[in-house]
Amino acid sequence: MRAPDAAGGAPELRAADPETSEGAERPGAIVLMIGDGMGISQITFSRNYYLEADESLAMDRMPVTALMSTHSSSNWVTDSAAAATALASGVKITNGRIGLDDTGTALRTISDEAKAKGWRIGYVTDTSITHATPAGFYGHVRDRYLQQDIDALADQLLEQGPDVALGGGRRDFEPIGTGGGKRLDKRNLLEIAKEGGYAFYDHSTGLPEELELPALGLFGGGHLPYELDRELLPEALRPPRLRELTQSALAALGADNSPFFLMIEGGRIDHGAHSFDAASVAAQTRSFDQAVQTVLDYQRERPDLLVVVTADHATGGLAINDFVDWPLIARQSATIEWMVARIMDQTHPATVAEINELIGYDALDDEVLATLREAPEKYAMRRALGTHLALKQGVTWVPRIEVLETKGHTGEDVPLYASGPGARRLQGVLDNTEVPSRLIELIGWQQLNDFDLSTIDLPNGENSPIPHRHDD
Ligand SMILES: [Zn+2]
Repeated sequence: MRAPDAAGGAPELRAADPETSEGAERPGAIVLMIGDGMGISQITFSRNYYLEADESLAMDRMPVTALMSTHSSSNWVTDSAAAATALASGVKITNGRIGLDDTGTALRTISDEAKAKGWRIGYVTDTSITHATPAGFYGHVRDRYLQQDIDALADQLLEQGPDVALGGGRRDFEPIGTGGGKRLDKRNLLEIAKEGGYAFYDHSTGLPEELELPALGLFGGGHLPYELDRELLPEALRPPRLRELTQSALAALGADNSPFFLMIEGGRIDHGAHSFDAASVAAQTRSFDQAVQTVLDYQRERPDLLVVVTADHATGGLAINDFVDWPLIARQSATIEWMVARIMDQTHPATVAEINELIGYDALDDEVLATLREAPEKYAMRRALGTHLALKQGVTWVPRIEVLETKGHTGEDVPLYASGPGARRLQGVLDNTEVPSRLIELIGWQQLNDFDLSTIDLPNGENSPIPHRHDD
């Protein structure tokens, strides 16, 4: 039982603080939460934005914090694939690859180890379940963007056999030519999953109160919709929210006090930031934080649960200036991605008035819209519209994104928050490769892969400047 909180104030969130908890330092379950693109300024931005509505962030109340370096083996700025691999396997690899080291060897992940030790394992994301962050925990491919490799990731997910996998990405499980299917090998992995014993959930079944295990839930063809766009969708097309998926996964994995490892990704903070969409970054960070709150609430029932919240990298170079117009941003009622899709709609392209309605004020006129239409493709149009709105909103993003390998990620350290048994082991300044190795060490398992950060060759030919850190 936890000690009473003498200091008062948010005692439930401090229950698992190693300083006050009477529990052992060895966790009996782990939730690793990854905000994709959620750097410190994205968090600050979202906190400021929602403070106007008297809301605060759950992750701000976690007792242990750290700063984490994130670079990959190919660039000082990582992509999500190399970062997820580092967080899952403790090895730095080349951007764009998943779960393969720089010699091409498949890496063992913390999920592989957890499963081998009889723990339940699971993944929850608001992106495709084959997207880079979850894939880093089960997949091994050379090119995360190649459809053949994405097909392979769906196979590799089923081969690993998580007890719970909830998110989007149904199209990567169904043959090309059928509905929205994209699989080039024309196999139907949904049928294969069901034959293999999976209970399958989608829009037609909804998310049940209790999941049957093993559970595969794919609530969208690709990524799940953004928070800002939910109200624009017909109700039948609104998938469960990240916090609802999280709640179901926790209840199923943790039933009977089972040990489990669960990775939860808030994947679309990154997507909003790629489009220079400040309102989306705030809304997606909040959505992820609501999932954090759900996990912290659950932790009160499971005091042996270690919760780690971090990011793979930051995105967009968002700066917090003194001239941000918060109320103006709050008027926006759709994402820039949604607006661009409306502008590019072949049959009924949106008018200036319709887009201004979504922006919440008269940001566009015919001339600006005509300029936007000159963008060569949708990503460029999103950034052009994002740049236009950012000027009005007083928001600053990093320029020159098109010349960067990661197209808009930035390489500064990201925050890490932890609570529960062993949380203190993650405190301080660490590298993303040290997260799985410290978790493994806490539980007392064998280390996953042979990797020494101090000997890694970096893009500039130097060895890692980050000294290998020991216990103290
Ligand atoms: Zn990104």
